[in-house]
Amino acid sequence: MLLTLTNTRVPATDLGYLLHKNPNRVQSFELSFGKAHVFYPEASSDRCTAALLLDVDPVGLVRSRRGPSGEGGMLDQYVNDRPYVASSFMSVAIARIFNSALAGNSKDRPELVTVPLPLSARIGVLPCRGGEQFVRRLFEPLGYQVVAEHHPLDEKFPEWGDGAYYTVEISKNVTLQGLLTHLYVLIPVLDTGKHYWVGKDEVEKLLRHGEGWLQSHPEREAIVSRYLRGFRKLTREALARLTEDESLDPDAEQETKEEQEQAIEAPIRLHDARLQQVAAELKTSGAKRVLDLGCGEGKLVRELLKDKQFEEIVGMDVSYRSLEVAAERLHLDTLPPKQKERIKLIQGSLMYRDKRLTGFDAAAVVEVIEHLDEPRLAAFERVLFEFARPQTAVLTTPNAEYNVKFETLPAGQFRHRDHRFEWTREQFQKWANGVGERFGYAVEFKPVGEEDQQVGAPTQMGVFRQ
Ligand code: SAH
Repeated sequence: MLLTLTNTRVPATDLGYLLHKNPNRVQSFELSFGKAHVFYPEASSDRCTAALLLDVDPVGLVRSRRGPSGEGGMLDQYVNDRPYVASSFMSVAIARIFNSALAGNSKDRPELVTVPLPLSARIGVLPCRGGEQFVRRLFEPLGYQVVAEHHPLDEKFPEWGDGAYYTVEISKNVTLQGLLTHLYVLIPVLDTGKHYWVGKDEVEKLLRHGEGWLQSHPEREAIVSRYLRGFRKLTREALARLTEDESLDPDAEQETKEEQEQAIEAPIRLHDARLQQVAAELKTSGAKRVLDLGCGEGKLVRELLKDKQFEEIVGMDVSYRSLEVAAERLHLDTLPPKQKERIKLIQGSLMYRDKRLTGFDAAAVVEVIEHLDEPRLAAFERVLFEFARPQTAVLTTPNAEYNVKFETLPAGQFRHRDHRFEWTREQFQKWANGVGERFGYAVEFKPVGEEDQQVGAPTQMGVFRQ
């Protein structure tokens, strides 16, 4: 990956003094994730360009455990875009190699440090989920002219369309320190790789480098949240300190592991919308005795408990730990007896026929099927539709087409670590209609969450009725 910085103010080679790197030499540096080289493709008095080339070692990354966590399996750990795109590694390199310039120091040209120069920066390849529009929304409010070139997924197959990669050039009359600072913060904001280390000191770094411009940036919230990889607690802390808004006190909220996993979907509060919609479907079905299969930590059970129509609610999950959390969250041991009688939490697997599941009016299976191995879905189908056989079943699963809209989700990855598959609308409908035909159910499909014209809604729902 390549970053070039160009100065066109005569004598342009002052850039070398400002960067503390001699235009006549090639210099190489060892970094924890690979090598960096600095050289000057051109160095005349009219125009001087410095290049920072990073040679990231993906195998070294895996060995040093700094690489992607390998959700796509082993191959994904070794074969990924990290060596080729600008990412937080570029920021680390800027901070290490151009540290004086980033801090606004120059031994030989101290008088130039505060002078805006006609500078431009070109980032060879930038992965950008928010697209060109987002690149513009980041740099234009800071006064940059932006040129973005979108690269096709594969030049040989133009019909596949464009990928997530851009070449971006920004230019402005700006101090070198200003330019480097903006790149340092905004490159990781544009990249969505997950390998990035997020910790307390990242908040400090962000606030330090954001001084003087981040607070008044119209995309402040998106920048902070994406820089901190969607970690809500850290994001709230950073925003609170930026705006000195007490109501954003970070300690007001503790982030659980579940919340971290949901961070990808969090911005639209999809989880809540889904549960509300499923509860509404169950209600209109007229069901009194309902099953929540794969109930997890019991959020739907809690929702259903609020409505007296549901006289008996059985939550089942294969995970004992989840059931313990569910019992705790429902305050099962202190509920008034009348309420408590309505709920039962049982451990069981949807892979096996289970007598306890028979005789119910309706069943909810919310975000569960994608956790089952695809070849074993046939067993699940029989368990639910042949043996348990509720009048109504409400199933939800992610709509894979929508994944391109999640800014923090790298292309080609699933939304959760444990997902075995994610289906397009066509795949889900084909499967569900097949099930309906085999077991005598009619299926109605509904979107859940905000619907996009092209890719549909984030979640898809099938309502099966006998
Ligand atoms: N329905 C809940 C949880 C979804 S997560 C919600 O929407 O919040 C998926 C759940 O399915 C997990 O709790 C997991 O333990 C459960 N699960 C996975 N495989 C299962 C199986 N074979 N039988 C029963 N539950 C299973």
